Amino acid sequence: MMRFAAAPHVEKRPVAEVVVLPCFQEKGHARPVLEVRSLQPYTTAPLTLKDFTGKEGELLYVYTKDQPEKRLVLLGLGAREKVTTETLRRAYASFAKSCHPRKIKMANLIVPEVQELSPESVLRGILEGILLANYRFDKLKAESNHATVLLQKICLVGVNKSVLPLAVKHASICEGVYLVRDLANSNADEVTPQYLIQAAQKLAKRESAVKVTVFNKARLIKEKMGLILAVGRASQNEPAMIFLEYNGLPKGLSKHGAKEKDHTVLVGKGITYDTGGLNLKSSGMETMKCDMAGAAVVLAVISVASALKLPIHLTAILATAENCISSSSYKPGDVYKGYTGKTVEITNTDAEGRLVLADALAYAAKKLKPTRIVDVATLTGGVDVALGNEATGLMSNNDALADLLIRAGSETFERVWRLPMHEEYRDLLKSDVADLKNAAGRSASPITAATFLKDFINDIPWAHLDIASTAFLSEAKRYHPKFATGVGVRLLIEFLEHL
Ligand SMILES: [Zn+2]
Repeated sequence: MMRFAAAPHVEKRPVAEVVVLPCFQEKGHARPVLEVRSLQPYTTAPLTLKDFTGKEGELLYVYTKDQPEKRLVLLGLGAREKVTTETLRRAYASFAKSCHPRKIKMANLIVPEVQELSPESVLRGILEGILLANYRFDKLKAESNHATVLLQKICLVGVNKSVLPLAVKHASICEGVYLVRDLANSNADEVTPQYLIQAAQKLAKRESAVKVTVFNKARLIKEKMGLILAVGRASQNEPAMIFLEYNGLPKGLSKHGAKEKDHTVLVGKGITYDTGGLNLKSSGMETMKCDMAGAAVVLAVISVASALKLPIHLTAILATAENCISSSSYKPGDVYKGYTGKTVEITNTDAEGRLVLADALAYAAKKLKPTRIVDVATLTGGVDVALGNEATGLMSNNDALADLLIRAGSETFERVWRLPMHEEYRDLLKSDVADLKNAAGRSASPITAATFLKDFINDIPWAHLDIASTAFLSEAKRYHPKFATGVGVRLLIEFLEHL
């Protein structure tokens, strides 16, 4: 984990490999956020020659003598009045990425004051930008090619030591983001349902406040969870439902208070590989190891919630299976019965995520006394058509819950966009042979998928996050690396903190 220090005075900063001096842009000129006399010999030329103008994300390395660092980075933040937390994330992410080829491990950061932002928001932007960009996934290369050197230590200059707990908090949250990225980027042959069980058990060992319960195949049969069993039955890697429970509510404070009963349940889709089943995918299968990103997100969120000791009662459910092909594959046209007893006609075996989620949601609604349920899933290609990778699709039966998620989305810049769930969409799921069918075709596909799920949650306040287009990128973007992004972790932690 990243280590942090604070140095209140700029002239007393520790030895490091680089110092970052952020600059605003004023009338086409760069203006450093702080006049540092000892650095002026190095900043005068680039500023007066306008080789550096301070525009957002601009970066210039200058080499110094007789300073605690041999390198000075001028970092552009753009116009002062337009700086947001997101501006800072992007600017500091480009700084973090510039450190990697230079093998820089230690940096001194002169922290700017931004009038429009609280000191906490400024720190958040700087730290999230650096931490999110400071990631590598090279374990699938030969060991000799594990070349990326990451930033390891940051000294915040010009601020008091009292900010350090906040820095550690952001680092803990980003550790959760890394966990999701690692799980979703790893081989599907490695990250199977059994691997996720072990990851959950390992987490419960480390975080003593988290308890884990696993429904293996035998238990799924006993519970009559016929939908997740159908999806998983062609694979030698058996399906499972993994429950992690964390209760950080203060005990005995209000014996009859509503708060004591407050219980949030998160459900994640954990398809560790999705071939599409007998409705075999015709393209895009090489990214299908990430189809368990939703399960990874809820695993990471409960890990972070416990590490931060959030005062909430939280259960995370990983509904996990591998959707493959064999002589025992579940079949298009056949009808399967799930936990609620409702029957489902399979019109497309590639619409498997909603099936594993349906059994998990139904169980949560019936047995876990949830105040609210949020599910996270790489569910539909249609959400990419609708929103691209700049927003996660949100569908909900509850306005207050949806608003909390939208707010958390704008705070974290893991933005969510709400799609409607008009009753009439339910008509598209009518089946002639069963209680409903699992897929309704292209039209409004993210919404019909959510409408399918809604049949299983028994009117409990519920929100569904379709991260199919935001969980995995084909190109690196801003502070997101290529491939798995870990989107959902920061969003849900922010959401849980504001319940
Ligand atoms: Zn699928």
